[in-house]
Amino acid sequence: AQRPVGLPRARYGGRNAVTMLPGGGIGPELMDYVKEVFLEGGIPVDFETIQIDPKSDNNDDLEYAIMSIRRNGVCIKGNIETQSLDSAIISRNVAIRNELDLFMNVIHVQSYNNIRSRHKNVDVIVVRQNTEGEYAMLEHESVKGVVESMKVITKTNSTRLARNAFELAKNNGRSKVTAIHKANIMKLSDGLFLETCKNMSLNYPDIKFDHMIIDNCCMQLVSNPHQFDVMVMPNLYGSIVSNVICGLVGGAGIISGKNYGDHYAVFEPGTRNTGSSIAGTNTANPIAMLNASADMLEHLGHRVHCDKIRTAISKTLNEDMVHTPDLNGTAKSSDVVQNIIKYVKSIGGRI
Ligand code: ADP
Ligand code: MG
Repeated sequence: AQRPVGLPRARYGGRNAVTMLPGGGIGPELMDYVKEVFLEGGIPVDFETIQIDPKSDNNDDLEYAIMSIRRNGVCIKGNIETQSLDSAIISRNVAIRNELDLFMNVIHVQSYNNIRSRHKNVDVIVVRQNTEGEYAMLEHESVKGVVESMKVITKTNSTRLARNAFELAKNNGRSKVTAIHKANIMKLSDGLFLETCKNMSLNYPDIKFDHMIIDNCCMQLVSNPHQFDVMVMPNLYGSIVSNVICGLVGGAGIISGKNYGDHYAVFEPGTRNTGSSIAGTNTANPIAMLNASADMLEHLGHRVHCDKIRTAISKTLNEDMVHTPDLNGTAKSSDVVQNIIKYVKSIGGRI
């Protein structure tokens, strides 16, 4: 998009280049909102936008996107669809996480006061293994009618995930880490994951450690989410638990998710939805993607700009109650964005 003449622009050096992958469904419209808010807020980030064609039966766009993230180090993305029926074309979302070794997904789920939900004051951090487990994509039909799918758990990935979960707990003043597993059934794979978390906990005597089986965890989450603080788990359980917790505080349109490896960071809406059925209707909730953009600014060290967006979001949701239909409101996506822009400008767009 062209920069309209006369709108605020950053007045100092140190602009960041960031890869933007709009993806499918509501992704492109949400990215337009992010760009609009950044422009109006004078936020010094330049986006390198790469559209991956979902119908493509080669991986050229994907490879270009991965190269761009390697160069920029940071990416904001929507969910990418894979429409090709060719089984050689794997999910581009999974490919990006695997190629960049983004071994950890972190979702901080916090309630907004004025969003109607089953539980108030939820505040849980979910740390999810992001590259292996059930997402190893090693499936085959061994004999006709028998499909085998491998779940891969490694000590290396479990260890660095567990270490990061405890470090995150320590650095954020959290008091407990709960490992989620099914080691009573999957004794070797989940057993290794659980054992690794237990061993890691010995290095953090000030942080309480406990563990829970995934099925009980789901029941506990919907009945009493307040018992959880930081949670750490393998990939598929992480997908389910993230969706349950996001649902507890208002659904797919609110919470952002962060993907980290040792070298790269990718920011996106927490539940990774495409939202194809509401694309182009001006009803999608823009908050999750804007929260992702605020996470990205925090990661880039733009603390002031990050806080500006978070404050604008909280005033919009909690005070002005400009809510889209997914939150039982009547506001359009663009109403929410305009309300946020109003604050982003008034909290010093031109610093
Ligand atoms: P779809 O089948 O339309 O792609 P998804 O599986 O991606 O839907 O998302 C699950 C549900 O969450 C859908 O009902 C979708 O409309 C809704 N949803 C996802 N993202 C948002 C959003 N940002 N705002 C409002 N609703 C959303
Ligand atoms: Mg879907």
